[in-house]
Amino acid sequence: MAVVKVSLIDALREHFGFDSFKGNQEIIIKSILAGKDTFVIMPTGGGKSLCYQLPALMSSGCALIVSPLIALMKNQVDLVRSYSSKDNVAHFLNSTLSKAQIKKVRTDLLSGKTKMLYVAPETLTKQENLDFFRELEISFIAVDEAHCISEWGHDFRPEYRRLKEMIEQINDSLPIIALTATATPKVQSDIVKNLELRDPQVFLSSFNRSNLYYEIRPKRKKDQTIREIVKFIHQHKGKSGIIYTLNRKTTEELADMLVANNIKAVAYHAGLDAGTRAQRQDMFLHEDVDVIVATIAFGMGIDKPDVRFVIHYNIPKSLENYYQETGRAGRDGLEGICVCFYSYKDVQKLEHLMRDKPLSEREMGAQLINETVAYAESSACRRKVILHYFGEKYEESQCNNACDNCRNPKEKIEVKNRVVIVLKA
Ligand code: ADP
Ligand code: MG
Ligand code: ZN
Repeated sequence: MAVVKVSLIDALREHFGFDSFKGNQEIIIKSILAGKDTFVIMPTGGGKSLCYQLPALMSSGCALIVSPLIALMKNQVDLVRSYSSKDNVAHFLNSTLSKAQIKKVRTDLLSGKTKMLYVAPETLTKQENLDFFRELEISFIAVDEAHCISEWGHDFRPEYRRLKEMIEQINDSLPIIALTATATPKVQSDIVKNLELRDPQVFLSSFNRSNLYYEIRPKRKKDQTIREIVKFIHQHKGKSGIIYTLNRKTTEELADMLVANNIKAVAYHAGLDAGTRAQRQDMFLHEDVDVIVATIAFGMGIDKPDVRFVIHYNIPKSLENYYQETGRAGRDGLEGICVCFYSYKDVQKLEHLMRDKPLSEREMGAQLINETVAYAESSACRRKVILHYFGEKYEESQCNNACDNCRNPKEKIEVKNRVVIVLKA
């Protein structure tokens, strides 16, 4: 890979206008520029994009960036373009483009002006695209949201599993950069194995979100829980918050209840048409409403820095999900309160949802749920449990009372060891 010789910090200033690197960015970028397979594990908001964008701009040829969501791709490209005076520095290629648009993208790629091409995995399943890329100078491949490769991740996409085979068809010596905010060791080893990363440089950042407060509350009767939620929101008047529920109907019910209690709220779920979803998302982003009551369909790629609370009306299906969903609070580094309501009934609802899945999937699901139950029933520091789950060493003395168990240590209660058992169909 031919690299233009300027200092990295100058390149950062020139291309992005930032004065310093965040976290591990600089050393990661050096690894990529050295042409090494690189594995970046960094929490959401940590600045992963820049880790491949800057090397892409500094290398000759064009970087291929695999990204799972078409909607996010356009955002990313718009963002890159906003830093540059040239619109053709970045493009995306996916099923939303017209023939004429595809032609324009190809012309720019051939002219060498384009430094980053965002593609969906589907784009790489098309032979004509692979043939085209084979003739092109590619600097490296970046696989963003690489956890989509793993069934143990929170967003498995089967197409991701075929990436390596498709990349090899383009050129089997291209450096591969995998990036994810998923820190569980299982997912990590799946990624390394599946992409066949060659002696990768691995950069693991801490996943501690010290500005988030974690709390579990026992979930009682429905009206009582709703009253608790209303009270909580009134105590945080005018602040932005997300409430996650398990099913669509509950989002609507809960949003109605909040509105009836003078709270500006809307529901959001995948059953709404795309227009309504986009409109409600904007209402939340522009603060026409304070609270969005949503299923997990809401959140990926949403970058609202000042979300002040995330409430889980139902327990999430894995600790990984919990971490990702609560992670949307306090992106700006200021306060974020994460309250999760827990009842064993909700655990049974989660199990029930898996009833028609194949046995192996149910077993996997049950294991994830058990870990979440253990978290909810634990009297240990919440942060410690979460970070240990991610394989990170953490002493609860570091928590600074930023979780319910550290703030109000419980008598060690003997909880029944409730284990979700998968019954054979
Ligand atoms: P991730 O993909 O890890 O979730 P992003 O790449 O979206 O994170 O970056 C999160 C935010 O951090 C973006 O708003 C980005 O502009 C900002 N950012 C990244 N690197 C820097 C830097 N070196 N200095 C200042 N801001 C940065
Ligand atoms: Mg990202
Ligand atoms: Zn704690």
